[in-house]
Amino acid sequence: MPHNSAQPSVIIIGAGFGGLAMALELQRAGFDNLLILEKSDAVGGVWRENTYPGAGCDIPSPLYSLSSEPNLSWTRRFSRQGEILAYLQTIADQRAITPRIRFGREVAEAKFDESTGRWQVWTTAGEHLESDVLVHAVGQLSRPALPRIAGIDSFDGPAFHSAEWDHTVELTGKRVAVIGTGASAIQLVPAIAPEVAELTLFQRSAAWVLRKPDTEYKPWQQTMFRRLPATRLAERFGIWLVCEGLSLSLVDVPVIRTLIARLGTRNLHAEISDPALRAALTPDYTPGCKRALFSNDYYPALARPNSRVVTDPIAEITPTGIRTADGVLHEVDAIVYGTGFRASEFLAQISIEGAGGVCLDAQWRDGARAYLGMAVPGFPNMFILYGPNTNLGGNSIVHMLESQARYITAMVSVLAERPGQFLEVRAEVEERFDAGLQKRLNRSVWTLCSSWYRTASGRISNNWPGTVSHYRLRTRRPKLADYHLHAHTPLETGAR
Ligand SMILES: Cc1cc2nc3c(=O)[nH]c(=O)nc-3n(C[C@H](O)[C@H](O)[C@H](O)COP(=O)(O)OP(=O)(O)OC[C@H]3O[C@@H](n4cnc5c(N)ncnc54)[C@H](O)[C@@H]3O)c2cc1C
Repeated sequence: MPHNSAQPSVIIIGAGFGGLAMALELQRAGFDNLLILEKSDAVGGVWRENTYPGAGCDIPSPLYSLSSEPNLSWTRRFSRQGEILAYLQTIADQRAITPRIRFGREVAEAKFDESTGRWQVWTTAGEHLESDVLVHAVGQLSRPALPRIAGIDSFDGPAFHSAEWDHTVELTGKRVAVIGTGASAIQLVPAIAPEVAELTLFQRSAAWVLRKPDTEYKPWQQTMFRRLPATRLAERFGIWLVCEGLSLSLVDVPVIRTLIARLGTRNLHAEISDPALRAALTPDYTPGCKRALFSNDYYPALARPNSRVVTDPIAEITPTGIRTADGVLHEVDAIVYGTGFRASEFLAQISIEGAGGVCLDAQWRDGARAYLGMAVPGFPNMFILYGPNTNLGGNSIVHMLESQARYITAMVSVLAERPGQFLEVRAEVEERFDAGLQKRLNRSVWTLCSSWYRTASGRISNNWPGTVSHYRLRTRRPKLADYHLHAHTPLETGAR
């Protein structure tokens, strides 16, 4: 990308919510020397990938959307995948971001060149690009995780992950196994249960399930949101307030967990009358330790006569079904893996070399970490969106992404004002930040059970132990003193 000191060039990897939020923020600040590299053929990230029946957000759309790009015509409070994807496509097109995206470009490697202060980037097809600033917007949940189960490849029927739904497979009238009880499984189970002959849900641990205040927006409500913006803002604010309350339960105000447990238990008892099923669906850990889930139709789906919940651990997968540890073979026609994502392997799909040839995966051997989840010592002019410790247990990731996009844009402004220099976060600043973070995390609900939030060594590298307002405050005004400003020889010519 052309080098122009007043307009630092920025390569953004990924065109999901994060990449689009970043591009919008840069454009708004007058920086349009940017390029998005996206491995697939469309924008949307997880909302392009996750097309399983029932897919949708579990944070209400008025908050799970960009504050600068309100959608006045959401058809319901908890939008479905298609509507969220259309929203992101509209933003990309209307805000002239689409022409800045190169689709079908999967980034394989990035190297920082100290002599020029620029990032060298290569795609899997061998294409080479360079830029002053590199922003990773590859998400935490973009790489599906399959469980390690003996015989997983031996199954004769169709088997696929929820994020790679095979729409050519007809599940109607079939015996279907769903493995996993996370956020995706609890959406897809009610969507397929009425159609399949038998639904067998293999559950390792029961989830806390709360009712969700979903509603279809009537035309008069959409008109009201359009004519009286204060009503839309009031709804967004109310949702934000409730979500901040939920977030407080995770570290600072544990008493809220008791309330969540009460609500969850009441929901379970209201929906499930069979004592054995109720017992199977009763969580055995503190609410919040694994993500609390929101659904009005999950329990009714499991109470159907054609549904079964199996809690015996899976021993193996055979050509005809799933054998549990008690020796029973559960014969099925299709298997759906609702087993989540490789969330703690941050940026593992890209080989990244920073200043002095240091490799990011070696530096992160004991778990990913970054100052404010965005900046890593030794990796100048590189920022991460939705990076380590910026996932949330109860609020909108989009709020975090917007805080990060603003922060990074402010750092790009710093570079624009200081031609010939590049920025590297100070190691002691990152260490101090991480120490504070770990101290808070050690008091958090996530230490009370094992979950995808924790690495094999027990480090919690995904979650932010606070509210989104706390994060926004911390990222609102970047402190230049947190960074080294290194000099390099400014280039005299334009594109290289
Ligand atoms: C089913 C589902 C439901 C969710 N619901 C909610 C919710 O209700 N509320 C909430 O707050 N969060 C939710 N999330 C979390 C969600 O991940 C974030 O909210 C948000 O969408 C993340 O956006 P992102 O742009 O950071 O990442 P992603 O959406 O994952 O986008 C990353 C993009 O990077 C691209 N990419 C990856 N690697 C490369 C590479 N090497 N080269 C080029 N391109 C690459 C991918 O193709 C993808 O387009 C949900 C996640 C899932 C999976």
